[in-house]
Amino acid sequence: MIDLRSDTVTRPTAGMRRAMADAEVGDDVLDGDPTVRALQDAVAERLGKPAALFFPTGTMANQAGCAVLGRHGTEAYLHEGAHLVDWEMAGLAALAGIQPRLVRGAPVLTAATLEAAFRAPSPHAPRASLVCVENTHNGAGGAVTPLPELQAIRAVAAARHLPVHLDGARLWNASVATGTPLADFAACADTVMVSFAKGLGAPVGAALAGSVEAMAEAHLVRKRYGGGMRQSGVLAAACRYGLQHHYDGLGTDHARATRFATQVADACPTARVVMPDTNIVMIDLPPGRTSAEVVAACRAAGVLLSPWHATRVRAVTHLDVDDAAVARAGVVVAEVLRAA
Ligand SMILES: *Cc1c(COP(=O)(O)O)cnc(C)c1O
Repeated sequence: MIDLRSDTVTRPTAGMRRAMADAEVGDDVLDGDPTVRALQDAVAERLGKPAALFFPTGTMANQAGCAVLGRHGTEAYLHEGAHLVDWEMAGLAALAGIQPRLVRGAPVLTAATLEAAFRAPSPHAPRASLVCVENTHNGAGGAVTPLPELQAIRAVAAARHLPVHLDGARLWNASVATGTPLADFAACADTVMVSFAKGLGAPVGAALAGSVEAMAEAHLVRKRYGGGMRQSGVLAAACRYGLQHHYDGLGTDHARATRFATQVADACPTARVVMPDTNIVMIDLPPGRTSAEVVAACRAAGVLLSPWHATRVRAVTHLDVDDAAVARAGVVVAEVLRAA
């Protein structure tokens, strides 16, 4: 099986498993774990933030960031297709008491759509307390929000004194694809989430970065959400290994995604293939086709895709698929899409 469902399906490599086995550990809830501390320092440095905090998942780190920055009984402005909206079990509302205000009108959040979405202040309307942005944007096909646009979003938020949380699960990919330093992207937000379990290939793990004060608050929230972990250096070691050894492979994932997208688009003009900025390819199916049927046919031919919605499927390149596998997947997907 060639598994293109997600870049989360990677198995830890032999080197990563060795790093986990050899990790120096302590009790991170009691008095700290040296490997977790080393990872947090490395993340803070790369993102140009004063502090960072290790989390078991990107979802928990996203939720903690929003809970720290936003206020109960207010709204967060974010794109209608944000991971925070679509895939986090209504956590903003359920945990932080924050209502999402969906910004519509473009595949990703822009300064213009954000500005236009703000409602006039009124004693009858909920107040805003937060803006969230996702880079790269998963639902839009790993789309990069370039630095100037992110800076413009930051300026729109700042004009209303609103903090910004950046869901940067794949911020690494945005940086590799554009050459923009991570710290320049991160400077546009008060809290930044990054994930080690996507393209970097760790089994689990994410981090939140921001000011010392924000991370001190996030530490309390992490505990409340059940994210205090003991000898978590075993996990942090995998994340450090991914940062050190798998980062440079992200560009290869991007090149493979572009080749796959081009192959499918050329072979099947009635499908609308979203040309990828990074490692995620979204395919809007030819008229009359459904994701359920296309995903099943591809599976029968040895390729796993994920159904994104009823008429859109997603393919993601990652560490565990090589040139040959991606080329083969391109042939299979094109054949399935061409079959009437
Ligand atoms: C995967 C992902 C998350 C959540 O990370 P988990 O570790 O799976 O909880 C958040 N945001 C985006 C954009 C993601 O792709």
